[in-house]
Amino acid sequence: MPSAEPVESIESARLSNKILTPTMVDSLEFACNSRFIEGNVPLKWLPHLADRLLELDGSLAVSLEGWQSEEKFLLRLVIDGTLLLQCQRCLASVCLPMQVNSVLQLISTDDDWPDEELMDDEMDAIEASEVLDVVGLIENEVLLALPLAPRHEYCELPGEAGAAENEYGSASFLVLAALKKH
Ligand SMILES: [Zn+2]
Repeated sequence: MPSAEPVESIESARLSNKILTPTMVDSLEFACNSRFIEGNVPLKWLPHLADRLLELDGSLAVSLEGWQSEEKFLLRLVIDGTLLLQCQRCLASVCLPMQVNSVLQLISTDDDWPDEELMDDEMDAIEASEVLDVVGLIENEVLLALPLAPRHEYCELPGEAGAAENEYGSASFLVLAALKKH
């Protein structure tokens, strides 16, 4: 029998923080009216990032704030969360805290694209859009912030430690396996 309850409301009720909404904004209007949105973005919504993650069950806490300064239309995107990647040295999982705080300047199609050299180093330019894909923007910013080769600060190549080559292949599972022996 199909449930009358919409699945989405059950999901968002289960989470302590609500899911980010809306996921599309009119970017210039958002900046002009100093709008603000915040919420969680499930990692499963970010397919290009998901390819590089070992664990997709989490989410990122995100906020987007718009404002206008002098002649500029600006967005601040703040992203906070933890990602589980594969260490490129020992191949076990490595926890990566992900903190992004980016200011983006909206450029209309009829504006000249700003000269890179004249841009504030703290700011990136993006094309203004009436249907700005906020989730796509978040995914891009996180991909840019990912290290090319994530690694533990201290670890050994597989084989050197002996323990790394086993059926579990992940440090967190090794801990679990050790606990289960008791
Ligand atoms: Zn490692």
